[in-house]
Order: sequence, then C-alpha cells, then structure tokens
Amino acid sequence: MREQAADDPDVLVLGAGINGACLARELALNGASVMVVDADDVASGTTRWSTRLVHGGLRYLEYGELALVRESLIERERLCRLAPHLVRPLGFSIPLRGRLGGLASAAARIVGWETLARRLAGSRGRGSLAVGCGLTLYDLLGAGSGWPRHRIVGAGLPGLPRVDPVRYPLAGLYTDAQMLFPERFTVELLVDARRIAVDRGLGFQVLTRHQALCRADGRVEVGPLGGAGRSVIAPRAVVNATGAWVDRTLDDVWPVLDGMVNEHVRLIGGTKGSHLLIDHPPLRVALGPRGVYAEATDGRPVFVLPFGARLVLVGTTDIPFAGDPATARASPEEIEYLLAAVGGLFPTAAPTQAHVMQHYCGVRPLPARRPGGRSPAGITRRHMLVRMEGAPVPTWSIIGGKLTTCRSLAAQAAKEVLSALAIPVTASSRCRPLPGAPEAPSGEASGGRDAVALLVGEGVPEARATRLVAETFALFGARAGGALGLNPDGKPTPEGGDRTGAVLVGTPLPLTAVGFCIDQEWARTLEDLIERRLMLVYSPDLSRATLSAVAGEMVRLGAMPAGRVDAEVDSLARLLAERYGKRLA
Ligand SMILES: Cc1cc2nc3c(=O)[nH]c(=O)nc-3n(C[C@H](O)[C@H](O)[C@H](O)COP(=O)(O)OP(=O)(O)OC[C@H]3O[C@@H](n4cnc5c(N)ncnc54)[C@H](O)[C@@H]3O)c2cc1C
Repeated sequence: MREQAADDPDVLVLGAGINGACLARELALNGASVMVVDADDVASGTTRWSTRLVHGGLRYLEYGELALVRESLIERERLCRLAPHLVRPLGFSIPLRGRLGGLASAAARIVGWETLARRLAGSRGRGSLAVGCGLTLYDLLGAGSGWPRHRIVGAGLPGLPRVDPVRYPLAGLYTDAQMLFPERFTVELLVDARRIAVDRGLGFQVLTRHQALCRADGRVEVGPLGGAGRSVIAPRAVVNATGAWVDRTLDDVWPVLDGMVNEHVRLIGGTKGSHLLIDHPPLRVALGPRGVYAEATDGRPVFVLPFGARLVLVGTTDIPFAGDPATARASPEEIEYLLAAVGGLFPTAAPTQAHVMQHYCGVRPLPARRPGGRSPAGITRRHMLVRMEGAPVPTWSIIGGKLTTCRSLAAQAAKEVLSALAIPVTASSRCRPLPGAPEAPSGEASGGRDAVALLVGEGVPEARATRLVAETFALFGARAGGALGLNPDGKPTPEGGDRTGAVLVGTPLPLTAVGFCIDQEWARTLEDLIERRLMLVYSPDLSRATLSAVAGEMVRLGAMPAGRVDAEVDSLARLLAERYGKRLA
C-alpha cells in the first residue's frame, strides 16, 4: 500500500511516538491530510521505554486524579478490545504486610499535604484497609467494563506470585492490562492511518530520520537529517508531539521566531525511569502469570511483571532529568535499587546483577509546572494541549500523556486542531480495531490454521510451519500473512518467492518479515528492524548471526549496500551494549 505525498498537508505532526501516531490516525479519519516527521524512527522515544502497562493508575487515586483514572480505565477496556493481539488483561497482586498501614498518609496525600504524607508513610507500606479502599474506588471508576472486581486474600493461594509469605501475609488482587510491545502498537496506528488515507485519497506521509525547520512565513523546510534534498511545505497547522523533547523541538524547529515562540516558558519537567529485564528462571516461576505491584523501601511503586514466558520486567525509578532524553541511561544505583526491591519481595529467588539481561531508561514528558511540594511520583500524568502564541500557523504542543490514554488524547487534540482548520469532526476511533486485530474472536486461530496449510502446501514441514505461523501471529496479528510472505489469496508474494517458509537464523520468525517491515512499516535500518519491528532486541537468544542474517536480507532487498554489513552489525552490537547493557548470545 503506497502512501501519497502530503505535499502541503493540512497538519504536520512532529514526532512518531504513540501520541503523534494516534493523532495522525484520528486526523486522517476526519479527512485531514497529514505528514508525520520524526527525527529518529517510529516509536524510538519514551513510548518504548515505558513499563508497558495499560492501566487506570491505581496510585493516582491518592492524588485525587479521579477523572484521569476513570478515563484511563475506559481506554484500558477499549484498547484490549480494539487491539487484542497487542493489549491483554493482566492479573496483579499487591503484597500486603498488615491491615492498617497507609491510611493516614493516603488521607494527607488526597488533601494535597505531600510532605506530611511522606512523613506518615512509615516503613510497613499500605495495609489491606487502605489498599482495599483504593481498589474499591478503582472498581467503581471502572464500572461497566465487565472486568473482575478486586479481592483481598491470604498469601499462599495457588497461582499467586510466591512473595515472602511471612513478610506479606495478605494480597490485594485486581486486573489491569499489558501492552508488551508499544513499538508495534505505534507502527500499527500509522499503518491504519495510511490505510484510511489511501481509502479516502488523502495525502499521508511518514518521514523518519527527517527534520523540520519552521520559517517565519509559516512554511516549513523538511529534509533528511544530515542529508541534502530539503523540500518546503505549507502546512495549515503544526502539532509538536515530541514528548520529552517538546521544549528542544520548539527551540530547534522554530529558531527564526526570535522573541516569540522560541522564548516560551518551559513546558516539560521530565523525570527518568529505568527498567530491568531479568533472565532468572526461579524468579519467573515464582512470579507465575500475574504481575506484582509493590512498594520499595522508599515507598516508591515497583512493578515486577511477566515479560513473555521466560523474562521478568522490573520498573521503575522516578528521578528529575534535564538532559537530552536520548542520553538517559539506567545508572548502576538504579539497577541496584530495583534488584533490592525484587529481592525483598522474592528472597528465595532474588536476582543478582548476573541475571540482568538488559536494562532501559526513558524520560517521562511531565509538565514543568509542579504543584507545591509534590514528589516526582505525584506530578500529574494528565495530558495537556498547549497552543503556541505567536506562531505563524496554528501550532500546538502536547504535554504529558500515557500509553493508556493515547487514543483519548488524540481525539481531544484532533478536535481542537480540526476546529481551527474548520474541518468538521465526523468520525472517531472509539470503535476502530487496529489492522492486526482479528475480525472475530476466532479469526486469529482460523487464519493461523489457513496459513499453516498454505505453507505446508508450499513444501514447508508442518512443525516448522506451525511454529512460524504462531510466532508471526504473536507479533503481527491478523497481518501475519504478509509477514509470512503470503498474498491475501494465500499464494506466495513475488518478493517472498522461494524464501516463503524460510526461518530467520536464530529466531522463530520468517525471513520474509524483514522485507514486509521495510516495505509496509517504514523500517529503514538494521536498528529499526531489530529494536522496533521484529522486537528481537528483547530476545535472550539475539546473536551476531541473527544481526548478520537480517542485514544480509536487507542487502538482498536493496535496503543496505553489500559492503556495509559488517560495519552495521558492529555498530548495532555496540549500541545494544551501550544503551541496554546487552550482550549478544
Ligand atoms: C519510565 C516510564 C514508564 C512509563 N510507563 C507507562 C505505563 O506503564 N503505561 C502508560 O500508559 N504510560 C507509561 N509511561 C508514559 C508513556 O510512555 C509516555 O507518556 C508516552 O510514551 C509518550 O509518548 P509520545 O508519543 O508523547 O512521546 P515519544 O514516544 O517520546 O515520541 C516522541 C517522538 O518525537 C521524536 N522527536 C524528538 N525530537 C524531534 C524533532 N525535533 N522533530 C521530529 N521528531 C522529534 C522522537 O524521536 C520520538 O520518536 C511511562 C513513561 C516512562 C518514562
């Protein structure tokens, strides 16, 4: 599906994170032509450095953010319905040390006395009464969604995470959701936006590794980063959806407007949060199918989450950060802190440094304005749309937001932008599934069976075909056929050809998925493919051989010069070591 150049788009969206992508889709749905420009790749910012939960935010109740929690709970149910292949309900357990702790500090926090709340918190954490009240309110705010209600139970029930039963004799059980790969969710938002634009003959373009420079006459120069070939466009509106980069973008993209936009009040006061991916089978077994939501010794929330069948994701920290968000890294102190938090919960399966497969760190795009005395954890997670006074075309910046509320944020932002352009809002994404969602609950399974039969018909051994199809559906949902090198009519695509059914070395994925991501999903580099399309960066088995195989396929497809393979593989191996502390298998 080819996109049509959005020469003079109605709206220029800067930033292809979850919020920029969701906004582009909402705008296209309402008939606007859109150009999305990202200085890096799709979902290369905070979106992929998150805890990957789609949740109401139980903790925000203590800060009186009832409207945000209600909105998030509605969106949680909606995203599970519209993208069931990417967003799935996840049971949680809150380990509890007693009954009474936390009531006074919760009350102080609700009335805004943060310092007193911290003083009253004590070392025993919140007890079952405080947590039960919070979970009851959570159930009430999520009423109508049909999700299971919470329970307070004794430790040791089968299926519960095996946290220290002496220290935690009780547990609060509730359900939220997990978006294992927000990277893929974001890609699918853009795939859908393009599909809508193609169907309606609207201009739509996604330009990665491009930069925009806004001129005083309202025109915008757009060109590849560090390369030649700039073009000048005249968008009718601009939205700065660059998350933690919002202020830097205003400085860099509007430098000509001296004394106007570029002397803006700082909008973002980011905090960095780190995560660990732990490869320690005893911990994964002790955790079981639920996530744990607990308090570290300093009272900060810590999540210990299943990450697929083998790994455990632990996060996060919350530390003010003023540097370039791209340079944020998990520090040795944060790694120690998170390991200690897990060790306190699971003393018999405590992980050590050696079990940390990799780490990652991102910067929350939180508002710079902070109500008096609030700790980083207490800064609102509500999103805001700020209109930039003095800009030559209507221009907004998006502040804050969560993965969870990307769709509602996009709907609100689209309404404001479209109203300024006098384009009526006629459609909404409220009921629109993502392209990889199975059309019916049984669709995925039957599609899978069809694909297995088709591959077997092409001479692929049945066991291999079954595994390939299952793994490809897990990543691409109902779009798996394309990634498997099959046309909608079930015949191999000309590009797939004799490679249909071949496996990408060292992975359970089809080799044809490389070409599919390049052709259909804006993947341009080895890094894009490994980190944000095929999600191999999160595989414990990722090896140099796999990097070379992907690079080799890129060469075959004309997406990389043959002489560059070794240099590209070396460079990505170094990047993975530096950014994630990851050692290749
Ligand atoms: C530690 C942590 C944990 C979190 N956990 C959760 C969670 O569990 N659940 C939840 O709902 N939310 C969570 N969040 C919040 C959520 O991840 C973010 O609010 C959300 O991802 C922000 O998305 P975005 O699209 O606004 O920004 P980003 O994803 O950062 O996208 C911004 C994009 O702008 C691009 N860009 C930068 N400068 C320019 C420029 N000059 N021109 C063009 N493009 C540019 C970047 O390359 C990037 O791709 C968490 C955040 C953090 C940091």
